[in-house]
Amino acid sequence: MDIKKNDIFTVQITDTGTEGEGIGKIAGFTLFVKDAVIGDTVQVKVMKAKKNYAYAKLEKVLVPSPFRVEPPCAFHRQCGGCQLQSLSYEKQLEFKQNKIRNNLVRIGGFEPEKIDACMEPIIGMEDPWHYRNKAQFPFGYDKEGNVVTGFYAGRTHTIIPNTDCALGVKENKEILEIILAYMKKYAVSAYEETTGKGLVRHVLIRKGFASGQIMVCLILNGKKLPEEQWLAEELWKIPGMTSVSVNVNTERTNVIMGKKVRVLKGEEKIEDAIGDVVFRISPLSFYQVNPVQTRKLYGQALEYAGLTGEETVWDLYCGIGTISLFLAQKAKKVYGVEIVPEAIADAKENAVRNGITNAEFYVGKAEEVLPQMYEEEGVYADVIVVDPPRKGCDEKCLETMVRMRPERIVYVSCDSATLARDLRYLGEMGYEIGKWRGCDMFPGTGHVESVIMMRNCGLKGK
Ligand code: SAH
Repeated sequence: MDIKKNDIFTVQITDTGTEGEGIGKIAGFTLFVKDAVIGDTVQVKVMKAKKNYAYAKLEKVLVPSPFRVEPPCAFHRQCGGCQLQSLSYEKQLEFKQNKIRNNLVRIGGFEPEKIDACMEPIIGMEDPWHYRNKAQFPFGYDKEGNVVTGFYAGRTHTIIPNTDCALGVKENKEILEIILAYMKKYAVSAYEETTGKGLVRHVLIRKGFASGQIMVCLILNGKKLPEEQWLAEELWKIPGMTSVSVNVNTERTNVIMGKKVRVLKGEEKIEDAIGDVVFRISPLSFYQVNPVQTRKLYGQALEYAGLTGEETVWDLYCGIGTISLFLAQKAKKVYGVEIVPEAIADAKENAVRNGITNAEFYVGKAEEVLPQMYEEEGVYADVIVVDPPRKGCDEKCLETMVRMRPERIVYVSCDSATLARDLRYLGEMGYEIGKWRGCDMFPGTGHVESVIMMRNCGLKGK
C-alpha cells in the first residue's frame, strides 16, 4: 500500500506503543498516532511515511474508546509530558505492566509463562494526580514579548504558558505567579536560549510531602537578581516555605542546574521522610519525585531483599542513600555506591541524622568501585540492590556482581528495556527471576518503574 504525507485515513486504534501512542493498522501498514487511545476510531493525517509504517496526527476522534477519559489538563496534547492523560487509569496500569512484561520476554529472552507466573500486580496510586514533589519550570517570552513560564511543547523548546500542571503540587501556581509578578514589577529579563541573553532561566520547586517544607530555587544566567530580598519575602508568605535560593548557570547548555547555590532566605536544604527515615535534600540532589509511590517501591525492594538482620547488602547507584538507609534498618551492614560526591555527602549526613551506624558510603562509579573493593578487599554481599539511571548497569558492574555471587539481586529500574537487557545477562550467569512487579511512579505519562528479584540458582562465586 502506498501511503504518503498528508494522506487522511479513518483507522481503528488496536494497540498502544511504547511511548503511550495509539497504534492502528491499514492493510498491514502500521500507523502510530499520538494522543489516540486504544479502542478509538479516529481520523488521522499522515505526517511522516516510511516503508511499512507512518506517524500520523490525530485529527478527530470519530468514535471514542470506552477507555477514554476527560483529561484534567487542557494543555496535555501540546505539552507532551503526559502521553496517557486521556486513557483511564486502570488501562494505564495495564499498559505499563504489559510494557515491562513484553520487554522481559522480547529483550530479556525469558519464557512468557515464567514471566507471568512470577509477576505480582503493578502497584498503582489511589489518587494519580498532583503526585510530583518536584517541578522545574523554564522562563521565556511569548509572541507579544511578555515573560511566561510553563512547559516545553513536546520535543521543542517553545514554552506553553501553564502555571497549573496537573501532576504538580497546588503551591506551584502561587509561587510561579509571585515570580512572574516580581519580574514584571522590576523588569527582570527571562533567559533566551537562542541568544544566551536574559537572566532567569528556570525555577526549581520542591515540596516535602511528609514535612510540608517547600523549596524554591531560581536558576540564573548571572549572579544576582535585582531586589532579590523583596522576592524572597513575597515567597516567604506561602505556608511551608523553608528555602529560597538562587543557582548560577551561565553556560549555554540544556543542563538546568549550575553547581553553586546561594540562599536568599531560610535553609539551603529542606527535610522530608520516607517511612521512618528522615532526609535532608539540597536543590542539587536527586530525590525520587513521587513520594507516595517511593515508599511503596522501597517497601517492595526491602521485601524482595528478604533481610533477617544478618545480611551484608550493597546498594549501587544509591543517590543520597534513600534505599540504603531504608535497608539498613533490617540488615547487618549496608554499603552504598554513588557517582555524585555531593549525594554521598548527603547520604552520610542522613545516616547520622537517623542514628544509622551500619551504613557506609563510597563515591565513584559502581563499575569501578565494586570490582576494586571485591578484588582488593575481598568484600562480600548476601544481597545486591541496584537502581541505575535509564541506561542501566555497566557490564563490568554486572560481571562483578555475578562473581560476588549474592543470594539475591534486587533490580530497581526506570527503563524496562535496559532492565531486560541486564537481566538477560544475569539469567545467563545462573540467576533466575524470583518475582517482579511494576510500580507506577509516573501516572499520566508513559514511564514506569519496575522492581525485580533475581535468585542465585545454586552456583558458587569465583
Ligand atoms: N537509589 C537512589 C538514586 C537512584 S537514581 C534513589 O532511589 O533515590 C540513579 C543514581 O545513579 C543517581 O543518583 C546517579 O547520580 C547515579 N549514577 C549514575 N551513574 C552512576 C555510576 N556509573 N555509578 C554509580 N552511580 C551512578
